[in-house]
Amino acid sequence: MFSYRHAFHAGNHADALKHITLIATLRHLMRKDGPLTLIDTHAGAGIYRLDGEAARTSGEALEGITRLQALEATDHLANALADYLAVVADFNRASSAGRRWRVYPGSPLIMHALMTEPARAAVHDRLKLFELHPTDAQALAAHIAQLQAGRQVSMARQDGFEALKALLPPPAAAGGSRRALALIDPSYEIKSDYAKAAAAVQDALRRFATGVYLVWYPIIARPEAHALPRRLKTLARQTERAWLNATLHVGAAPEGGGLTASGMFVFNPPHTLKAALGEALPQALHALASGRGAGQAWAVESGP
Ligand code: SAM
Repeated sequence: MFSYRHAFHAGNHADALKHITLIATLRHLMRKDGPLTLIDTHAGAGIYRLDGEAARTSGEALEGITRLQALEATDHLANALADYLAVVADFNRASSAGRRWRVYPGSPLIMHALMTEPARAAVHDRLKLFELHPTDAQALAAHIAQLQAGRQVSMARQDGFEALKALLPPPAAAGGSRRALALIDPSYEIKSDYAKAAAAVQDALRRFATGVYLVWYPIIARPEAHALPRRLKTLARQTERAWLNATLHVGAAPEGGGLTASGMFVFNPPHTLKAALGEALPQALHALASGRGAGQAWAVESGP
């Protein structure tokens, strides 16, 4: 049914943009004590080997997280970039210092790591994961089982677009507050994913207007891909929601081919996110785009 496997792409420049944005957003939301319902509609396998066959075949992580790892010791690293690198480094604690990282956490394990940090664990956030690919769903289930997280983390082999509907609005906490963040990160292997991503956010905003919704999208020469951020902006204006759109173009690969740019569109972003990404993305781009061709750029726009 599906041929997309995230293992080939884990830790590439698109994951860097996605996960830097996700972590910076969560850090801000986690400053408040109210528990969060965290939803990952397209979760993938949860964690990936960078020395495995898939990563070695594509070489994407080598051009992505491995280049960013080299920034770890840099002075004056932007907070959001340093935080992202610290989160990934934590999954590589077993490697000796200076060794190339061999593991890359996907969004499910990144979210789980943040919600179980000592300063946050007592709040008891919940994590809901969805993944349709049979092999990745099985791998995700095994990785989740290892966390021994009990009912705090759940996963289902289910369509994430559909599953989102049943989870919003999130349950009220003891004090009555309702808080949720959903990452919508399809592979866009099927053309209809573009329309489904927009429709999923539209429906989510109708059910729970104050939720934080993050949509990752590829920037490629395809009408649906061009239209998606425009459509999301229109939706934000129609629903009178604040929005932020971050894009990262790493420039053409010397050998050509491959994804060179992507974006993260955030509804109801934290007010700190624009500045955080404005510092982190140029530094990340400098490392990611080194030796690549024309078209290198980053941008963070927001509204209203
Ligand atoms: N969010 C993950 C991360 O950041 O680590 C990466 C997810 S990957 C880009 C997209 C995943 O969605 C793939 O593993 C694919 O099998 C899965 N998928 C595709 N269509 C789906 C659907 N309708 N519902 C749930 N999962 C789906």
